Amino acid sequence: MSKFIVLLPGDGIGVEVVGEAKKIIDYLSERYKMDIRTGTYLVGGASLDNCNEPVKDEVVEACLKADAVLLGAVGGPKWDDYPADKRPEKALLRLRKELGLYNNLRPVTVFDSLKDASPLRPEVVNGVDLLVVRELTGGLYFGQPKGIIEEDGVQVGVDTMRYSVPEIERIARAAFDAALVRRKKVTSVDKANILASSQLWRKTVERIAGEYPDVTLEHMLVDNCAMQLIRNPSQFDVILTENMFGDILSDEAAMLTGSIGMLPSASLGDGPGMYEPVHGSAPDIAGQNIANPLATLASVALMFRYSLDHEQAARDLESAISHVLDDGYNCKDMSRHARKVLSTSAMGDQVLKTLKQIHTPA
Ligand code: NAD
Repeated sequence: MSKFIVLLPGDGIGVEVVGEAKKIIDYLSERYKMDIRTGTYLVGGASLDNCNEPVKDEVVEACLKADAVLLGAVGGPKWDDYPADKRPEKALLRLRKELGLYNNLRPVTVFDSLKDASPLRPEVVNGVDLLVVRELTGGLYFGQPKGIIEEDGVQVGVDTMRYSVPEIERIARAAFDAALVRRKKVTSVDKANILASSQLWRKTVERIAGEYPDVTLEHMLVDNCAMQLIRNPSQFDVILTENMFGDILSDEAAMLTGSIGMLPSASLGDGPGMYEPVHGSAPDIAGQNIANPLATLASVALMFRYSLDHEQAARDLESAISHVLDDGYNCKDMSRHARKVLSTSAMGDQVLKTLKQIHTPA
C-alpha cells in the first residue's frame, strides 16, 4: 500500500538536513517496495516570506491526510521581530494541536564511539539507550484555571496540574507498547508523595500495566529520577512521565550524549505522527553544508518504526548510523570526537552507502 510523507524543511539548516533525509526515505522505499511518495511544503519563516502566514491551511490539511510528517526546524533572526501571531514557531504549535500529538518520544542513545562526548564519565554513560515518553497535551501547561488573577488587591499567578484517567491511560499504553519492542521495562515518574494528579497517574499506570504482563513496571519520584539520570542512567529503558516533568527530564537525559546535532524526536497522536530533530534552525551555520544531519536521519528511523510500521527499515537505518559513527565519521560539530569530518551531504551519502551494505535477515 502506498504511503505519503509530508516534508517540511522549514528554515536554516532544516532545508539541508531534510534534503539528506529524503535520500534515505527514497532508498528505503525502493528497498522495501513500500511505494512511499513525498511532498515538500513551506513552513515557518519560509512560509511567512512566501504568504505572510507561518503555515497555510492547505499545508495543515496535507499533514492531516499524510501517513507522517518530517519537519526540519523553523525560525531565525529575520523573523524575530514579527508579531506573536506571525512568528515561525506558531506553525509548530498549530501543527501539534491540529494533529493531536499527545505522545512525545525522545530516544537518548550514547553511541560507543561517542562516550567521550558526554559531560559525564564514559563508564557512567556506557550502554545508555533510553526512551523518554512524555505526555504532551495535558498537565500544568494546559490545565484550567490558568492566568494571573487579583485576590484582595494582590496579584496571584495560577496554573493547574490536572490529568484525567483517559489521558493517563493513552500515554501509559504508548509507553508499554514502546517497551515491548525494547528491553521491556517502564519507569513511571511522578510526585505521588505530594500531588493528587500523580496519585491518580500511579494508580492508572499500575492498572494499564496489567495489560502488559511481559513488561516490568517501576515507579520513581521525579526528584529521584533527576538524580538517577546522572548517577546511573543505564538503568532506564522507557521513562514514562507527564508533560512538565518530561520537558525537564528529556533535556537532562539528552545532555547525557553531549551533542545537540544527533538527537531525534517523534510526536504521536491518533493520526499522522510528526518527526523532527531536537535542534533548531542553527542560523549561524545555515547554508554552509556543515550541519549534522544525523538527528534528522534518526528521526526518519523513528518514522519507519512508529508511523510506517516497518521495524526492519528502522533498525537497518539505526544500525547504519551506528556503523558510520563506529567508523570514525562525524560532522564539524562533533569533530573532536571524529577521525573523519564530513559535510552535511557527505554524511547523508555515507549513511546511505552503509545502509546499502547492511544485509537484512530474511
Ligand atoms: P539551535 O539548535 O538552532 O542552535 C544551537 C547551537 O547548536 C548553534 O551553535 C548551532 O550551530 C548548533 N547546532 C544545532 N543543530 C546543529 C546541527 N544539526 N549540526 C551542527 N550544529 C548544530 O538553537 P538556537 O540557536 O537557540 O535557535 C536558532 C533558531 O532555531 C531560533 O530561531 C529558534 O527559535 C529556532 N528553534 C527551532 C526549533 C524547532 O524548529 N523545533 C527548536 C529550537 C530552536
